[in-house]
Amino acid sequence: MASPAFGGGKLNSGENRFMSTEILRVEHLKQHFPVHGGILFREIGRVLALDGVSFAVNRGETLGLVGESGCGKTTLGRSLMRLYQPTAGNIVFNGIDITRKRQREIRHLRREMQMIFQDPFESLNARHTVGEILEEPFIIHKIGDRMERQQRVAELLDRVGLSPTAGQRYPHEFSGGQRQRIGIARAIALKPSLIVCDEPVSALDVSIQSQILNLLIELQEEMGLTYLFIAHDLAVVKHMSDRIAVMYLGKIVEMTTSERINASPIHPYTQALISAIPVPDPTRSREKIILSGDVPSPLNPPTGCAFHTRCPVAKDICRTAVPSLENQPGDEEHLVACHFAGEVQLLQD
Ligand code: SF4
Repeated sequence: MASPAFGGGKLNSGENRFMSTEILRVEHLKQHFPVHGGILFREIGRVLALDGVSFAVNRGETLGLVGESGCGKTTLGRSLMRLYQPTAGNIVFNGIDITRKRQREIRHLRREMQMIFQDPFESLNARHTVGEILEEPFIIHKIGDRMERQQRVAELLDRVGLSPTAGQRYPHEFSGGQRQRIGIARAIALKPSLIVCDEPVSALDVSIQSQILNLLIELQEEMGLTYLFIAHDLAVVKHMSDRIAVMYLGKIVEMTTSERINASPIHPYTQALISAIPVPDPTRSREKIILSGDVPSPLNPPTGCAFHTRCPVAKDICRTAVPSLENQPGDEEHLVACHFAGEVQLLQD
């Protein structure tokens, strides 16, 4: 692979609000899950959830990860958090290779890396009050006495827009948007540097989504946070991200700045995703590219380019040769995995 998926990072606004130092580097990451069956319960196959993913994230940047359900983006977030033990490859966080470190060795890293989940209710202990939930990280990491911890909890509630009395109530007493605010408060409690946001607004009403997204943007600016922002909705990812990686069946198929993904997508799959976003200008229309079929099973991925079974322009070579993720000529910030990159224009405005 050409000099890669690493570095880079441009901003939607053109404003340089993040330092260019790298905080996270992922190299050829594979996450395969064995499938067992038969009388002897032997391994009969492997789900190739991630199949050689490489990228880097700069401090203060938001890297968006987008793709249909089953493309591996949630698995990627969880592998980075070491909720799974990667099958192969490396995860380097703050210059330290954490891929094979034991759980107790990476405990202190949990302060630096946090996660916001799609369904905050599932991740909040229903038997604890919100105050207890928010105090827990300070207790685990032995931070402050009881008075100081309660002061911190009050500050967190205030910062995410919840009333001071929210600390005495239980998660089920809150709406979905309020529960996501609690999830965010817990994620920022220990002042992390990186937060993996896994579909943080996809379970919320559209009217609430923008409030949560704006809160995340404000917190990023205040705290210098780095986000890995995972979502299936490209419009949301575009709004949040400096750069975007498009995933298909366990691989990154295109990665570049948010502007370029929107203005000049190259991979046929990215072009199809872009075509599904409504055009805000009523005088313009865009034909939606309909892909046939569903994402194939990662248990038995297609040969060659994994997208060939749905690609409208697939040719013979696509069925046998795997395209590598490569820089576009003269453009180090635009990587595409397609044998015919730059030759296919499906989007019709
Ligand atoms: Fe389509 Fe072939 Fe490109 Fe894959 S390599 S996206 S099948 S044209």
